[in-house]
Amino acid sequence: MSASEKEQIFIGSFIHTNDRGQLIIVDHGAIHVKEGKICNIVINPKSNDINGENVTVLKNSEFLIPGFIDCHIHAVQFPNLGVGYDKKLLEWLDTYTFPLEKTYTDKKFAKRVFNVVVDQTLMQGTTTACYFASLYSEASVILGQVVVSKGQRALIGKLSMDAIRDDNYFESIETSVKNIKKFVEDIEVLNSPLIKPIITPRFALSCSMALMKELGKLAEEKSLHIQTHISENIDEIKAVKEKFPEYSSYAAVYDEARLITNKTVLAHGIYLTDAEIALIKKRAASVIHCPSSNTCLKSGLCDVQKLKKEGIKIGLGTDVSGGPSCSILDAMRSALDVSSHLSMIKDNYEALNYEDVFYLATLGGAAALAMDNQVGNFEIGKEFDALVVDTNASPGLLNDLQNNTLEERFQKFIYSGDDRNIVQVYVNGRKIK
Ligand SMILES: [Zn+2]
Repeated sequence: MSASEKEQIFIGSFIHTNDRGQLIIVDHGAIHVKEGKICNIVINPKSNDINGENVTVLKNSEFLIPGFIDCHIHAVQFPNLGVGYDKKLLEWLDTYTFPLEKTYTDKKFAKRVFNVVVDQTLMQGTTTACYFASLYSEASVILGQVVVSKGQRALIGKLSMDAIRDDNYFESIETSVKNIKKFVEDIEVLNSPLIKPIITPRFALSCSMALMKELGKLAEEKSLHIQTHISENIDEIKAVKEKFPEYSSYAAVYDEARLITNKTVLAHGIYLTDAEIALIKKRAASVIHCPSSNTCLKSGLCDVQKLKKEGIKIGLGTDVSGGPSCSILDAMRSALDVSSHLSMIKDNYEALNYEDVFYLATLGGAAALAMDNQVGNFEIGKEFDALVVDTNASPGLLNDLQNNTLEERFQKFIYSGDDRNIVQVYVNGRKIK
């Protein structure tokens, strides 16, 4: 019997959110997990309620939280982490990103990189990742294999791009359509409940309308998720207007191709107009906030409060390597910084707080990926994707000189902790770290 088939019981403190984004703090509880799923939750369990062979009793310095969800990360860009922030988006792509991405015809290199990406994101507590993989199908399937072997939950996207470039970094529309269909089959053949393929047109500047329509059709036929970029940078938006003058907006271009659905994740969305926000809301698609990337590439300050007020589903993304860290904890802090800066320059603007970003990193991200019936918080029937946080794991890092309350220790972890405090990681009930 594998570990995930036995019943496990976790006893101690846990913190998660409800679907309104409110924090739920349980000082003493028991979470029962069977075959990867939460089968019972008992608040204030008596010691004689607890039986079973696999009981994990958390230390006083530990608490459980749901696993982090990275809704936007480019696996192939990982080697460029922390490099090339002297340029803005379009120049950055040409100078640093496309030359690196072109090297993934080398399958050995692909495997080496993806092993590091999946190991490091898991160590940082990312239990679910929504990956942009490679333009090349073989490398993209390798990412799927690595993710399955390491037990992460993920959406894997082979990039689609048919805009002709001098460096040959594109596929013809015929090749592109053929390859994406094959890729979807290849991921399905891996037969893992933890991974799914996701349709991934890079962005409107990389794709013809004909290709985007083919992708929209395929997503509809196979009920697949879709991811792309939108309204990240002023020059990009201008270029999209020039390339597609017949459409009223950037979002309208994707909508024409039926690429905006209730399973679509749109990265960035900094400069969305009111009409675009209304369209995204009508289609029940989500926007992924990537604050570290938006700062490093000087793309802009995304007004998450506005999107939230309009009822848009929002997740968080590290956007490696537009962002310089694969840690969602870092992305949470960047989101807090960006929001604080907005509150200093805008009237009547309330900055996000630690509860808000915790929701975005967990249940909000799950909802953005249309996976909130599966993961994101601790509810009976959901899969057990969880982190054990120990605020005393690295003595001195998060001091407890004032005997902090559980909520204060949780705040300290969000603002000042790091992966040293994430002492255990579970995906679908299986211990990964
Ligand atoms: Zn991106």
